[in-house]
Amino acid sequence: MAKRDYYETLGLARGADAAEIKKAYRQKAKELHPDRNSDNPKAEEQFKEANEAYEVLKDANKKAAYDRYGHAAFEGGMGGGGGGPRGPQGQGDFASAFSDVFDDLFGDFMGGQRGGGRARATRGSDLRYNLRVKLEDAYTGQQKTINVPTAVQCGSCKGSGAEDGSDPVTCPTCSGMGKVRAQQGFFTVERTCPTCNGAGQTVKNPCRVCHGAGRVEKEKSLSVNIPAGVETGTRIRLAGEGEAGMRGGPAGDLYIFIEVEDHQLFERESSNLFCRVPVSIAAAALGGEIEVPTIDGGRSRVKIPEGSQSGRQMRLRGKGMPALRGGGAGDMFIELAVETPVNLTSRQKEILREFDTLSKENNPQGSSFFKSVKGFWDSMKG
Ligand SMILES: [Zn+2]
Ligand SMILES: [Zn+2]
Repeated sequence: MAKRDYYETLGLARGADAAEIKKAYRQKAKELHPDRNSDNPKAEEQFKEANEAYEVLKDANKKAAYDRYGHAAFEGGMGGGGGGPRGPQGQGDFASAFSDVFDDLFGDFMGGQRGGGRARATRGSDLRYNLRVKLEDAYTGQQKTINVPTAVQCGSCKGSGAEDGSDPVTCPTCSGMGKVRAQQGFFTVERTCPTCNGAGQTVKNPCRVCHGAGRVEKEKSLSVNIPAGVETGTRIRLAGEGEAGMRGGPAGDLYIFIEVEDHQLFERESSNLFCRVPVSIAAAALGGEIEVPTIDGGRSRVKIPEGSQSGRQMRLRGKGMPALRGGGAGDMFIELAVETPVNLTSRQKEILREFDTLSKENNPQGSSFFKSVKGFWDSMKG
């Protein structure tokens, strides 16, 4: 059988450059790797062919010779000093021949878990806990106890997973490496040890409480300091209060996500508070003093100027929310809402009618609004 063209073997056109050759070879090697083709003997043959082709084409000198003389370049000593591949029989050469890409491939196949040593300890997961707080509590700050379901270190075996008195032993399958090597064709492949799942240790008598896992589900009671000034979206991190780690790894963190509840009186905008306060038509017209609630549970007296319109805002300095990261407190704004009186007695109506008559006498030209309206109508006529 005639030998296949090396470029063709790798699915390349003649004259392909080094990068293309390496890329094509990696592709082929992945496709044809014995690991993925355990019951396809043809793939193994093609794999060897691809290796042979790559062995020549990756070497600039050999590639030049091949480009010029074809396969003849490596027959009868023309390749120079027997440096060429010896063909599919010479298996011993292959491992070293493509050791440079071997490293790459190995990384791929092992999911990047290469490297000796013991299986790594794993950090526990971070946990999220959503906490709703009242606006009043966000104002004062609060010490709160929360119950968090989490995985904690098993108290019975202190996390080892072994029954009291029996120590975990080095895994007999992998000798504590957490990985095993298997021969696949002429490849040696490393895998996570099936006996210990990579831990490197096994437990003869598993702990009866955690069944050897070393951690147990538990509701943990934690005291949380909620600082004054928190707002919706504030996160509080409790280092090491997340899930327990595996194989002695550190615990994760617990993140408390704050959500501040809406308040029936106060609306918040960062550190400022807003409050709508109803005032009677008489108080708005004559001026006076009203009492408004404050977030600290107290009250403040506020002067209403004579002739206040609905929507008028007044500021109470420093009566807003405290700033979370220091600095001054926000302000409280009150907005007047002038109320139209309802459910009037006949006497009240009588007074209002009289008031209306007096108003017209007092201001016979009408308000500036009606003057504008009249001007508008006049201009439309013209
Ligand atoms: Zn093992
Ligand atoms: Zn245990």
